[in-house]
Formats: sequence, C-alpha cells, structure tokens
Amino acid sequence: MGIQKQPDGTFQVESSKKGKFYTVDLSKGSCTCPFFRFSLQRVHGECKHILAVKDMAQGRDQKSYEGIISFVKKHQPVESISLIKEFGEDAVDDLLSRGELIEKDGMIKILE
Ligand SMILES: [Zn+2]
Repeated sequence: MGIQKQPDGTFQVESSKKGKFYTVDLSKGSCTCPFFRFSLQRVHGECKHILAVKDMAQGRDQKSYEGIISFVKKHQPVESISLIKEFGEDAVDDLLSRGELIEKDGMIKILE
C-alpha cells in the first residue's frame, strides 16, 4: 500500500484499487474512503488506511528514536544542529520534551 505524506501533514494512501488515493488526517482521525465516511466515522472507528498510516508513523518514529539515543550515547555531547540535520527536528524535539535528551549551550546529552 503506497503512503505519501503531504506538505499539509495529511497522508495520501493508495486504495487496493491501484491508482485511487484516500486522504488520511491523523490529527482528526479521519479518512476519505467510503467505508470510513459512511460507517466508521460515527463510531470513531479506524479503517485500514488510518491503521496503515499509524503503523508507518510509529514504526519510523520508534526506529529513529532508538537511532538518536544510541548515536548520542556514542558521541555525546553532540551539537544540536548536527543531530537535527541527521535525524530531523521533530524527533529530536520530541525526545527533548520527554526528557530523554537534554540540551545545554547548543549541545545535546543523555541525562544519566
Ligand atoms: Zn479509509
């Protein structure tokens, strides 16, 4: 199943009919496929398109978070700028806000 992230933060998910795409918006928990609109929406259910996007997002986050932590462990302290360049601002920000990484004077370390 092809999934493409759009600049506005939604995802285009290819339906099982090739060439047809539905739009999944995770912030609203919605999908534009008929099954979601006519049935699941009322009961706050999740169609396979929403589930596929969630799987992909979680899988990638998990992987990049582990990557960041082990990278920082090996090289700490690491410059924030280079860590963000390597792994992306969202993931680094998230780890900082969770307290798994700490930033001081532009350098990032692991709290121990
Ligand atoms: Zn759907």
